[in-house]
Amino acid sequence: MISDDDKTRNPSVCIIGAGITGLTAARQLAALGYDVLVLESALNSGGMLSAFNIGDELIEHIYHHIFTSDSEVLGLIDELGLSADMKWYMVKDALFAGGRNYPFSTPLDLLRFHELPLLQRLRTGLTVLKAGRLRDWHELESITAAQWLIDNCGQDAYDKLWKPLLRAKFDQDAEEVSAVWIWNKFKLRGSSRSGGKSIEKLGYLDGSFAKLTEVLLRELDNRGGRILYGYTAMGLTRFTAKNGNRRYRVSSILEDCSSIDFDADAVISTISTRQFANLAISLSLPEDYREKLLSVRYKANICMVLRLRRSLSTWYWNTICDQLPFVVAVEHTNMTGINGYGGHIVYLSRYLDITDEVWTRSDGEIYQSFIAGLEHIYPDFSANDIIDWRLKRSRYAQPVVFRNYSSFMPEMNTPEPGIKLAGMAQIYPEDRGINYAVRLGREAADSIVDYIRGSGQF
Ligand SMILES: Cc1cc2nc3c(=O)[nH]c(=O)nc-3n(C[C@H](O)[C@H](O)[C@H](O)COP(=O)(O)OP(=O)(O)OC[C@H]3O[C@@H](n4cnc5c(N)ncnc54)[C@H](O)[C@@H]3O)c2cc1C
Repeated sequence: MISDDDKTRNPSVCIIGAGITGLTAARQLAALGYDVLVLESALNSGGMLSAFNIGDELIEHIYHHIFTSDSEVLGLIDELGLSADMKWYMVKDALFAGGRNYPFSTPLDLLRFHELPLLQRLRTGLTVLKAGRLRDWHELESITAAQWLIDNCGQDAYDKLWKPLLRAKFDQDAEEVSAVWIWNKFKLRGSSRSGGKSIEKLGYLDGSFAKLTEVLLRELDNRGGRILYGYTAMGLTRFTAKNGNRRYRVSSILEDCSSIDFDADAVISTISTRQFANLAISLSLPEDYREKLLSVRYKANICMVLRLRRSLSTWYWNTICDQLPFVVAVEHTNMTGINGYGGHIVYLSRYLDITDEVWTRSDGEIYQSFIAGLEHIYPDFSANDIIDWRLKRSRYAQPVVFRNYSSFMPEMNTPEPGIKLAGMAQIYPEDRGINYAVRLGREAADSIVDYIRGSGQF
């Protein structure tokens, strides 16, 4: 066992969470010779990017794609030697509104969207274009997305198109979400249409994005880093080592209720701010910072993946504007092709508050309601087409970006200098996503290096 006083030892870092953020940070620090330990409460890595075997392939529990402008993750893919697996696809989208499916991939599709008066269709198109060009998001911070969309696109466009979409993502908080969030969506999707293309171009890693986590884990292992599965971090304290150094103790609990403590010179937490606030209770963080931690609200997500004998349609993405049990249907194999999946892959997903009774329904009940919804959208679909299915619940799936979020976002640099917070709530003004998780993982690792260097302990 290494003693605290051993002057020759490397700095040690404990990372909480083996999602893409935690593993990116872990790889970077291990490459610098840090002694890295990752604690993961699940029995596998990847977090929301985790995957399972289906047919001859791996597939994510939750649909994933990236955009052409996602330079951070593309950089990582390159560094990990996976560029040959990065494939780009022109995809077709649709919208289900007023009881029917509308193609919704191109500006012409918007013009043909008869649910809205013509003038509002034109205004909507112009708003999307305008948003793509807007560089300074600060002016949008104090406006709600709802108000901004009504002002720019018109009331009908808001009621029939945007309101269902905001509700789909933010449920009861939809009306309070900041215009910055919707601006970001327009910007991101616009960027994936650049080069004169009116159809969106999306990227997918052949063999699933779990390949990213696999290679990160391999590199971590090669560099002497460790990962422990089934270890849930429950407490975080600071103590002074015999040599006077500031150190941290992460207490973890295992499935059999036993507990184990780990000591480290620094900690990166990649979990939700609310979980972190509970974990760090003994640190007596300043009240204003704790308030920030607790003020972040998160939506949960339920995502079902189905393997089907037949395809549903030619669309990759179908946004559901009508009131149905799910808010998006994603036919993954309309992007990638069938590959070795042994069927057509379709995801059905919805975001919700955990106070919603749907959150506590059994998987079987959710399955029944989702299938009824699917039959409604695609009358040719029958439950007999289903080969198999799975359902994943993510408690902390999406932080709610309220107005003026920058003023109450808990910063990555916590008041405790050796502890960095690097969860989805630390991504702003962009919305959470793999690209920004990679960026944040790198920033957290850099910040740890600065702290260790500045601490004079090594
Ligand atoms: C429905 C949906 C669709 C999405 N689609 C896309 C997409 O198309 N493109 C895209 O770029 N992004 C997408 N995302 C977002 C993307 O999945 C996330 O941004 C990214 O995976 C976040 O990674 P993370 O490491 O920050 O968090 P997570 O993946 O949540 O990782 C955190 C890890 O911490 C672990 N953990 C939690 N508490 C503890 C504890 N106390 N102790 C130890 N471990 C703990 C968790 O088990 C988890 O493994 C989507 C997300 C959802 C919900």
